Amino acid sequence: MIKKKVWDCIDQNSDMLKKMARDIWENPEVSLEEEYASKLQAKVLEEAGLKVVLGLKDLPTALIAEYGEGKPIIGILGEYDALESLSQDSVPERKVRVQGGHGHGCGHNLLGTGGVGAAIAIKEAIERGELQGTIRYYGCPAEEELIGKLFMLRDGYFDHCDALLYWHPSSNNMPWRVPCLAATSVVFSFKGLTAHAPQAHIGRSALDAVELMNVGANYLREHLPREVMFHYSILGNGIAPNTVPDRCQSWYMMRAPKRVQLDEAFPRLVDVAKGAAMMTGTTLESVEVLGGGNEVIVNQTIADLFVKNMNELGGPSFTEADYKFAKELTDQFTPEQKLRGAKAFQIPAEYHDQILLDAVVPKTDADVFPVSGDADLSWVFPFGAVYCATWPIGVFTHTWQATACTGSDIGFHGMLFASKTLAGACCELMTDENLMNKVKDEFKETSKNLEYKINIGADAVPKKVKLT
Ligand SMILES: [Zn+2]
Repeated sequence: MIKKKVWDCIDQNSDMLKKMARDIWENPEVSLEEEYASKLQAKVLEEAGLKVVLGLKDLPTALIAEYGEGKPIIGILGEYDALESLSQDSVPERKVRVQGGHGHGCGHNLLGTGGVGAAIAIKEAIERGELQGTIRYYGCPAEEELIGKLFMLRDGYFDHCDALLYWHPSSNNMPWRVPCLAATSVVFSFKGLTAHAPQAHIGRSALDAVELMNVGANYLREHLPREVMFHYSILGNGIAPNTVPDRCQSWYMMRAPKRVQLDEAFPRLVDVAKGAAMMTGTTLESVEVLGGGNEVIVNQTIADLFVKNMNELGGPSFTEADYKFAKELTDQFTPEQKLRGAKAFQIPAEYHDQILLDAVVPKTDADVFPVSGDADLSWVFPFGAVYCATWPIGVFTHTWQATACTGSDIGFHGMLFASKTLAGACCELMTDENLMNKVKDEFKETSKNLEYKINIGADAVPKKVKLT
């Protein structure tokens, strides 16, 4: 059986994959700085015999690895960026690994490595002549800032793909059946006039403009559809209070279930910023959209395929040690905390008393996933995504608890399960023409009334927001 051999290949590579995931975990790099991770993955993929291009237009830490020829072309999406200030050791209690360091609190060290494992296993099967078509692994940087895949899409790197497959670490084993939130990441920059604070009447404060903009935005909330949300942070002007700051920025992330809702809300937020500039005698120097994503369109045929493969695998293989680690970690939660965490990943009530989910959940009853990504590519290509459990029920993403798990065996075992799920789905898409056609037909149907418009300019370049 072709699939069995593909899964065996992932098992044979499991030590290498665990080491890669741990290496990336030990060397966490934030968005657009993923030099170590991208080089490591490029090296391993090249040594495995795939043709690798490291460094794509405007994205030096993006990569594509390819093997095979002809159709179908299946792309597997990987990520490897970490999060600021989430350093944590791989132990079930709070222990900072590097003071002030970054951490893999979203598990992208596993996400990318799981994809690498699947791509190598499929390559081997193509080389043996058991599968026909082309496998591509996409190393996509800067997901956390909603940048990488958006720019890669704009620049045509996904062109000709017949399907794109993706997984994300989670506490659940469940395909994405519903869209996640559309999002826009945008920086408002104000310019004022500096002055010595005792003579502040001469100056015009850009910080005042930012503060008034944020106040205005908070009043705006009430008059937007309830589902539209935004969060902001003030980017430091880096000067002491005895100087009137002439520069200050506010970084906003807006989210809503549908892009069209953001399209309506966004100009009103810009008006608030303009008003703040008028009030303070400053200038709204720029409104710069850094990245974002539309609500994701998920392909139900691929979702079914993920469920089938997860069931054939019998769920992730966690060990006694994993359960012990998970229990020690989640014993620190109150029952309410654990319940909130379970609901965040849409874990059905029947599993809420479990510690670590090894069952497969075929679908959710929710209308939307309360997360966002940079997956506009789902508007252009058939896209399937799946959650695989890499941390216990109750753990949220972007927390020290998630970082602890993504550097430990729980994370590695979930990652191998994910890798096999992706590879199994890929096998079937490459061997069953009817299935591939069903995926494409569904995509044609779901996308026929959508007009895709990218939210970044043709000349835009990926930008790192400086938090300090
Ligand atoms: Zn993530």
